[in-house]
Amino acid sequence: MNNDGQGRAEIAVIGGSGFYSFFGSDAEEVVVDTPYGAPSAPITLGEVEGRQVAFLPRHGRNHEYSPHTLPYRANMWALRMLGVNRVFAPCAVGSLVSEYGPGTVVIPDQLVDRTSGRSQTYFDEGGIHVEFADPYCPTLRKSAIQDSAIDGGVMVVVEGPRFSTRAESQWFARQGWTLVNMTGHPEAVLARELELCYAPIALVTDLDAGIESGQGVKAVDVFAEFQRNIEPLKALVRSAISDAPTGDCPTCRVHTGLTLPIELP
Ligand SMILES: [Zn+2]
Repeated sequence: MNNDGQGRAEIAVIGGSGFYSFFGSDAEEVVVDTPYGAPSAPITLGEVEGRQVAFLPRHGRNHEYSPHTLPYRANMWALRMLGVNRVFAPCAVGSLVSEYGPGTVVIPDQLVDRTSGRSQTYFDEGGIHVEFADPYCPTLRKSAIQDSAIDGGVMVVVEGPRFSTRAESQWFARQGWTLVNMTGHPEAVLARELELCYAPIALVTDLDAGIESGQGVKAVDVFAEFQRNIEPLKALVRSAISDAPTGDCPTCRVHTGLTLPIELP
């Protein structure tokens, strides 16, 4: 697909582990190719609360991709090719705060990058340095704070795919950080480079490494917990879409006036 795809959707949802579909079986499916290869899966298009929405399962429809092998650049580029300007990003997280138990939804306001070796920019030349002090769109975050969702928190993104050691988790918690995740970086910064509003919606599936004394994290428990909460999470995302602003975002249009070394879709 080329730029003819523009205008097919205005809002995207990137489903995390266990969140592999969003629309009914009659949803339109588009196969998108990008200069960075194919995204994790074909993208489905549908209408939610009167808004045109694109859905992309982050890990592929059958969880083919691990956090460290995900085609992050292709994913975000493909969404922008379809005309998307706002992205809600549900994800599974471990909690570093014992009060935020499994099932808690948190809308983080900060991230710490502990990944390594991931391609985290579209601008390998040209001296482009995007502002990232506040990594998430403030207005889109507000739309995501629905029901009992917690407003704010620091999400540390680890390389994975292994879970944290007990010492790592305790160290993260001592820094005052709130959540542990494996995919929030470079997704957020790539969104920023493409001038997309981006807000994570973090679902707590476990207490990371048991924090102090629990059993630590097992993948099977993470998936089971996500599955238990998938319908309420989808309802929250629908409400967030309904409340999402329209038009240009004054915060996330950071490139205006710059000459970019590549042409954005
Ligand atoms: Zn924005």
